[in-house]
Formats: sequence, C-alpha cells, structure tokens
Amino acid sequence: MPTNTADSSSSTVPSRSSSARRLIVLTGPTAVGKGTVEAKLRQDHPEVWVSVSATTRDPRPGEVDGQTYLFVTEGEFEAMESENKFLETAVVHNMAHYGTPLQPVLDHMEKNIPTILEIDLQGARRVKERAPELGLDVLSVFLAPPSFEDLVTRLAARGTENEEQRRKRLETARVELAAEKEFDVVIVNDTVEKAASRLWDVIAEEYGL
Ligand code: 5GP
Repeated sequence: MPTNTADSSSSTVPSRSSSARRLIVLTGPTAVGKGTVEAKLRQDHPEVWVSVSATTRDPRPGEVDGQTYLFVTEGEFEAMESENKFLETAVVHNMAHYGTPLQPVLDHMEKNIPTILEIDLQGARRVKERAPELGLDVLSVFLAPPSFEDLVTRLAARGTENEEQRRKRLETARVELAAEKEFDVVIVNDTVEKAASRLWDVIAEEYGL
C-alpha cells in the first residue's frame, strides 16, 4: 500500500503551499467507480461542484446532456478547441474526445467553491502542466481498485461496453494503474461510502470546511 494512501483521517493530505485552494483532480482507471463515488460525494455534500466535460461519445441510457456531459459532435468539439475553450482535452480509450471547459472551472475556483475534475490520466497530467500558467494549484487524487481482478469484474457487471470496448478499456486501465505514484493522494475504492467519505476528508481539509 502506498505511503500517501488516504485513510479515514485526513492527516496524510499534503499541506498547501499557499493560501489558495487547490483544484481537485480525481483520476482512476476505467470502471473503478469514479462516477459512483462522485455521485455519493455530491449527494452528501451538494456544495461540491464537479466540472461537466464535453465528449463526442454517445450518451448511455440515463445520461443527461448538460449534466452528465455536454454531448457534442466532432465538429462542435473541434470548434471549442480552436476557440481555446478547454483546460485540457484527451482522446480516451482511442475512441472519443473528452475535454474540460476552462471558464466554469476558473469561475468556481474564484468563488472558493470546492471544485473537482473527474478526468483520465492524460487529462490529469495536462492540467498539472497548464496549472501554473493559469494561476491554479492542483491537488491530484487517484481512486484505486482493491485489485485488477476487481476492475475486470466491475466492467463486465456494468454491461455498457461490448467485448472489444472492454478489452480497450482494460488495456488503458493497466497503464493507468502504474501511474498511481504520481498522485498526491491515493484512495482505495473498497466501498463507495468509505471512498466518498475519504474524498470528502481531502476536500474539507483543502477548503477549510
Ligand atoms: P466514460 O466514457 O466512461 O464516461 O469516461 C471515460 C473516461 O474519460 C473516464 O476515465 C473519465 O474520467 C474520462 N473523462 C471524462 N471527462 C473527461 C475530460 O474532460 N477530460 C479527460 N481527459 N478525461 C475525461
């Protein structure tokens, strides 16, 4: 277990370098349960704001345009890119474009609202790279599965991808798991309740809540 794993106390959270609150960037491999943990966090703590990404992938049943994602065409995505509307973009699982709209992030950070990006590893790295130029400080959080086998089971149980899509996602997941060490905090998703509560501890510590 990594030394920077967050336990139920928040004492392992690295301290702030300045008084500015850090942008929370939450990453984890496919099917680790980021969305479920994030939903639980929002249910318990509605004061947290989670950025709504743009994506060119098709909506899944139950997903709402403008809430889950901004579902856009390739052309619309390219237009947003050329107008520098994104904080970061990435092609995820070699399949679709995803991007974090920049202005809403800056607006929420300015108001001191706890702000979370739930994005993939490439995106998390780009945000870290760009943060200084935007005057942002980043606190990166990695949501890890209890084991790789656990991910395989979760992805199959979700049943939203075909076999080829699952194979691609698991390939990506192997690479992403190896990056755990780059993160400020690691939270193991053993149960949704515990993981969401640890994530809240990190946010509360950071935002003085
Ligand atoms: P899904 O298609 O399952 O909703 O998301 C696939 C992956 O894309 C997840 O790892 C999710 O965190 C990531 N993702 C969602 N939005 C963004 C974004 O704006 N930027 C990046 N880089 N990744 C994103």
